[in-house]
Amino acid sequence: MQNGISRPPRPPSPGSRILSADQIKSDDADTVFKKTELKVTHVPDDLTTRFLSIASLNTDKHKETCGLLLGKKGRLQDVDIYKVTDLVIPKQRSASDSCLMVEDEVTVYGEERNLITLGWIHTHPHSSCFMTSSDMHILANFQRHLPEFFAIICSPNHYPETGVFRLTDPPGLKRVMTCKDTDPLHSHKHQLPLYTDADKGHIVFVSETLPTIADLR
Ligand SMILES: [Zn+2]
Repeated sequence: MQNGISRPPRPPSPGSRILSADQIKSDDADTVFKKTELKVTHVPDDLTTRFLSIASLNTDKHKETCGLLLGKKGRLQDVDIYKVTDLVIPKQRSASDSCLMVEDEVTVYGEERNLITLGWIHTHPHSSCFMTSSDMHILANFQRHLPEFFAIICSPNHYPETGVFRLTDPPGLKRVMTCKDTDPLHSHKHQLPLYTDADKGHIVFVSETLPTIADLR
């Protein structure tokens, strides 16, 4: 969610990797698995296009759209991974710079299907792909429960159109969790980056079709 005023420089630009499951042979896998202790998380590469299509009505009205990404554990070469299987669009109240979700129905949706909430996706109709302070607080509330949790920001009117982020840990997660500032425009000054490109880490886009989209609005 963006506030239109605070525009810190975004981290190094994401060069999203798109791999088929077959392409992730042992060399790649070694690199991926040794690079981080986080579980690799597979995201179908049609996700952002399909989400932007659903969001387009709001985008045309200069309103944000948000969704949650649910999935389950899988196995790849005897290693546990996560796989995003469901895009759930909750009931929401959105404006040009905010999108408040009703999460209860998503929780029920996930529990009924044994799914884990793995990520959060939302649009910035007006601004580029960066995490606002409000975005960081929302991300922190999820990431503190699941270290692999990630955020995708889609900026349909900017380049790059998509950013995939997580809070650094350290120092980002703790910095945001200990912040009590409620001003929507506040800044999280720190000498080190508070968030980073997750698609250069544990998030891997794979050439698969997203199995399920559930629009609960
Ligand atoms: Zn804060």
